[in-house]
Amino acid sequence: MSLAANIPHNLLALAVNQSLDGIVIADALAADMPLIYANAGFEKMTGYSAAEIVGQNCRFLQGKDQNQAAVTVLRDAIRNGENCIVILKNYRKDGTLFWNEFNISPVKNAAGMVTHFIGVQKDVTARVDMLKHLRSSKLELQKVNQQLNVLAMSDGLTGVGNRRYFNEQLQAMFSIAQRTRVPLSILMLDLDYFKRYNDKYGHQAGDDSLIRVGGMIAEAFQRPSDAVCRYGGEEFAVVSVGMSAEELQLHAQQLCDSVRAAEIPHADSPHGVVTISIGGISRVPKSDTTTATLLKLADEALYLAKGMGRNRIGILD
Ligand code: GH3
Ligand code: MG
Ligand code: MG
Repeated sequence: MSLAANIPHNLLALAVNQSLDGIVIADALAADMPLIYANAGFEKMTGYSAAEIVGQNCRFLQGKDQNQAAVTVLRDAIRNGENCIVILKNYRKDGTLFWNEFNISPVKNAAGMVTHFIGVQKDVTARVDMLKHLRSSKLELQKVNQQLNVLAMSDGLTGVGNRRYFNEQLQAMFSIAQRTRVPLSILMLDLDYFKRYNDKYGHQAGDDSLIRVGGMIAEAFQRPSDAVCRYGGEEFAVVSVGMSAEELQLHAQQLCDSVRAAEIPHADSPHGVVTISIGGISRVPKSDTTTATLLKLADEALYLAKGMGRNRIGILD
């Protein structure tokens, strides 16, 4: 104020008029607070001439959008004679929308009464549009990331988890089982005489059978506490937490039976149809138990089941 006091008033008026920001002054003492001044920046931003809008309340810029949350904030500030900055959805004379960063300050007289409000407005449409664009790009990116995560964790042929998924789930379930003292189960499942199957029916038929058997395993173990994966080649693995050895035994036997009952022809197998052998282990991990020991035991149980004629299960507890 002290600096401005030395500047001629007409120079100040010129500076205000030439500002790129829109500047308006409203009469706070007159009914409905009419505008008494609008600078050239306002005219350029809104398309209205000062002569057209002087005498009106500034709210005409809101068009039909009178119910904006920002307007409530603005009204409260005016009622309390305070400063505020809001971003309003406004419309130019030609009807086009622009986002108006509107900053109002009260002017008080010597008695402390608010006589005027000075409003400075900036067209921040580009900034608002950019933020909207960024927000939607971010959502898009999150979606793609989720899809990538699923892809990175699943087996391309059968759609069940891959080995990386299995290792991750095994570590997580192992920790839960160890901490809460519940059994951890691991199953290794291998298609019997599958080399012969490929040799007889071709690789494509082999792939189709892998997809079908993988689907049956996934169906048998679909609780949130189960994870099914293709461990490699014609071998699948399951890890599950909280199942007793008896429950696991029963479940594995049913799965083994249902693969045989699907009657996928396999003329070069002594069983005449595609079968699987299952080796498994179920136990509460002790403090010195490791996932590697449990995997090794499940693998040995599978080897035993194979040795005993295949199409069977062997579960250790
Ligand atoms: P076993 O009963 O002892 O398990 O005998 P096997 O012939 O099933 O086992 P082996 O390890 O000798 O051969 C596994 C065969 O599985 C080799 C290959 O022909 C087949 N195989 C492995 N991965 C795939 C695959 O992705 N697609 C197809 N079609 N076949 C596969
Ligand atoms: Mg096999
Ligand atoms: Mg194998």
